[in-house]
Amino acid sequence: MVKKVDHIGVAVQSLEKALPFYTEVLKLPLLAIEEVESEKVKVAFLQVGDTKIELLEPTSNESPIAKFIEKRGEGIHHIALGVESIQERMNEIKSKGLRMIQDEPKIGAGGSKVAFVHPKSTFGVLFELCEKKGMKG
Ligand code: ZN
Repeated sequence: MVKKVDHIGVAVQSLEKALPFYTEVLKLPLLAIEEVESEKVKVAFLQVGDTKIELLEPTSNESPIAKFIEKRGEGIHHIALGVESIQERMNEIKSKGLRMIQDEPKIGAGGSKVAFVHPKSTFGVLFELCEKKGMKG
């Protein structure tokens, strides 16, 4: 069902402040910076071997990331699992009695389809399911 860890999401107050640590100290290549309207965040992707780190900066106080930082501070926010056929995976998860945060996949960074599994159903970890654009299941 799960192909790999696609990326690890990290909540930060400011990309501008956080990025030099990743690019200059860890020397990770910066792949892209983009704004994701649906989540009210600006994200930066850094390559780490064949997976990625996604830094998430809130663009509004209403952003789920702003609320996360307010409650828990900066830090690891979610683990994204690369899947094919996200809708089928969501149906399967729901059929096992687990909660998804949304019923339909949303369009996330890079045009991927994404959906989050509720951390109450996963022993405290926020998992994102992520189907890359153009990938067929
Ligand atoms: Zn993510």
